[in-house]
Amino acid sequence: MPVCFVVIGGGPAGVQAASTAARLGAQVTLVERDVVGGAANLWDCVPSKAMIATGSLVALARRATVRGLESLSPEVDLELLGARVREIEHKLATSMTEQLLSQGVEILAGTGRLVGPHRVEVSADDGDLRALDADAVLIATGSYPRVPDWAPVDGKRVLTTRQAYPPPEIPDRLVVVGSGVTGVEFVHMFRSLGSKVTLLVSRQQVLPQKDPEVAAALETDFLESGVVLCKGARAMAVEHTDSGRLVVRCEDGRVVDGSHMLLAVGSVPASGGFGLEHAGVEVNHAGHVAVNQHCQSNVAHIYAAGDVSGRLPLASVAAVQGRKAAEHVMGLHSRQHRHLDYDKAASAIFTEPEIADVGLAEAEAFALGRKIRVTKVPLATNARALIDGDARGFVKIVSDPSTGIVLGGSVVGDRAAELVSVIALAVTANLRVLDLAESLFVHPALSEALAEAAE
Ligand SMILES: Cc1cc2nc3c(=O)[nH]c(=O)nc-3n(C[C@H](O)[C@H](O)[C@H](O)COP(=O)(O)OP(=O)(O)OC[C@H]3O[C@@H](n4cnc5c(N)ncnc54)[C@H](O)[C@@H]3O)c2cc1C
Repeated sequence: MPVCFVVIGGGPAGVQAASTAARLGAQVTLVERDVVGGAANLWDCVPSKAMIATGSLVALARRATVRGLESLSPEVDLELLGARVREIEHKLATSMTEQLLSQGVEILAGTGRLVGPHRVEVSADDGDLRALDADAVLIATGSYPRVPDWAPVDGKRVLTTRQAYPPPEIPDRLVVVGSGVTGVEFVHMFRSLGSKVTLLVSRQQVLPQKDPEVAAALETDFLESGVVLCKGARAMAVEHTDSGRLVVRCEDGRVVDGSHMLLAVGSVPASGGFGLEHAGVEVNHAGHVAVNQHCQSNVAHIYAAGDVSGRLPLASVAAVQGRKAAEHVMGLHSRQHRHLDYDKAASAIFTEPEIADVGLAEAEAFALGRKIRVTKVPLATNARALIDGDARGFVKIVSDPSTGIVLGGSVVGDRAAELVSVIALAVTANLRVLDLAESLFVHPALSEALAEAAE
């Protein structure tokens, strides 16, 4: 008898788990209440990057003179933009669905709920109720945006990130609350689309978790493009004025005025309301389903992957967790099998300049008292960056001074999210700086900066 594997949630974690388990011979049912592809496709990664791509094009057109053209001022058509975002989502959801079906995965449209350790009940969208028996279950239910008590979200002028694809209108003056990855991406998106933006930064640095040098490069760019940074400003209330404006009040008494406000203050794991308690699955104080290296919860045959597991909240990580969980269900971990190393996950911030990093950061190494070698090359001397008219940023590589092994790196600049893959591969495969320095990269290309930084 094949292993019966039920996956609740069809985001990157659920889709990858279902696909892997089916390929390995399991009988798989994927339960999804919205669309296959999950929040990643519908609300988070894909729509935000599609809007950012349009914003970046607008910004590029305005800077056309740097490439010897007259500067242009394209008008943004919100209806067309919205249609494009939905078309991309639809294409991705369709191709994922087709692939899963071709692998023999059963997809049930509805809400899944655990009613016992080995039983999942599905309330289908058409009202039907179906019970599924499972040898193993994966919880891949994701997360949703956190809304603080003081914020009266109305989807019109006080928005969560899910209400911004696109918003009803381009905000005249947007106040963004939250300066983590999501907050700064939305600052970049809306300033490129023409909004005047104020960013409330609760600490003294945007991107508080990032290398200070990387964060400083972004702050400089924000300031140069007219973004107002309010540092040490923690929002605590928002009021609508008679003149139709919003007034955001901060804990230290500062008051910021805007036409719209966007919240980017983190997310809440989707772990409630679907019967985890009936299966004895524990959640931690933050509501995450705590998991071990195989993505098992405290109940051995119930796994969790993706945002609900409280590890790195990235679609890329969710997908690999899903694959690892499926491989464990199918007994593959006993063969040659590499554990997921969260410290080696590359991540990117789709601002301008783009920011990406992987592995050990310089500041982190100093905090740990670890000896490192840091080499840095500015893109200002890179031929391709100059040809493209955007030579902002740098490549930084962190290595072990005694072995030369690459431990990490950051890229700030055009296409950083692509360039960092080479450093990520070096970190995962324990390559040495010499391996990068002696690689024959293309000329003229941004990747030459990687080889140079490795010299
Ligand atoms: C604005 C924004 C931008 C982001 N951009 C990026 C990016 O560029 N790159 C990146 O790597 N990460 C990005 N992320 C993070 C990324 O979106 C998440 O880490 C990723 O979506 C997590 O995937 P997941 O599989 O855990 O769940 P999700 O993608 O959240 O999917 C969970 C699915 O489970 C379904 N579900 C929930 N409960 C049930 C139930 N009981 N029954 C049936 N179905 C259920 C939901 O409908 C949903 O479809 C971004 C996040 C945000 C907020």
